[in-house]
Amino acid sequence: MPTKTDNSFEGRRIGLFGGTFNPIHKGHLTAASQVVRLLELDRIYFIPCATPPHKTARCLAPGKHRLSMIRLALAGSKKMHVSDLEMQRPGPSFSIDTIITVRGKVKPEAALFFILGLDAFLSIHSWKDWFRLMSESCMAVMSRPVQNDKVTGNLVKQLETYLNSTLSLDYIYDELHRCFRHPELQPVYPVEIKPLDISSSHIRNCLKNKLPIEAMVPKAVAAYIKEKGLYL
Ligand code: ATP
Ligand code: MG
Repeated sequence: MPTKTDNSFEGRRIGLFGGTFNPIHKGHLTAASQVVRLLELDRIYFIPCATPPHKTARCLAPGKHRLSMIRLALAGSKKMHVSDLEMQRPGPSFSIDTIITVRGKVKPEAALFFILGLDAFLSIHSWKDWFRLMSESCMAVMSRPVQNDKVTGNLVKQLETYLNSTLSLDYIYDELHRCFRHPELQPVYPVEIKPLDISSSHIRNCLKNKLPIEAMVPKAVAAYIKEKGLYL
């Protein structure tokens, strides 16, 4: 049974995992389960965007299909949930709007963790209202190989370089709690996961070239893609 969509945002430590999920793959799932464990989250919500502000719509499968594939991938999972909040909103899906909506639904003492890979985080300065976004929610930044990377070193070093050179010199690393602190913003947590080298773009490429994708996505997702003839 595919999991149901769930916009309840229950829990005290809540992870929000945004993305295009075009399609969802084992890299997303492995990363999410490691973040749940490492940050001791009660729940993590996958929130597929309707229209991504930073990507071209080319090869973007309709929202209902991307949502269905997440529901299949998360079937049976207790801590992983899927929200269609961004699908219900017209226009481009800005994360700040999502965070504000979620903030309005959760208890005041709830901690929100906006989860994203290093590749995505390194452009957060170009996101709408990034300062407000980072003042409303903690950031959980997962290791991910970054192509054409200008910053090198381990995850903490890479984050430090980016935070201080691009966002604010006021970020200071707190060794004890393993996060970057800022006087006005919520902490940024480097989350050292063992990422799988899988991406949705590679999967779409394989499909276009009639190459197998079964090793990269859950069985039910592979079957769904085949049945609907997606990404051909
Ligand atoms: P695309 O190739 O189309 O950009 P993607 O595989 O990067 O797809 P997205 O939907 O863009 O998937 O990613 C959503 C979030 O998941 C981003 O924050 C991204 O950094 C993270 N992510 C994606 N794949 C992985 C992976 N294999 N390991 C860790 N994080 C990942
Ligand atoms: Mg991506």
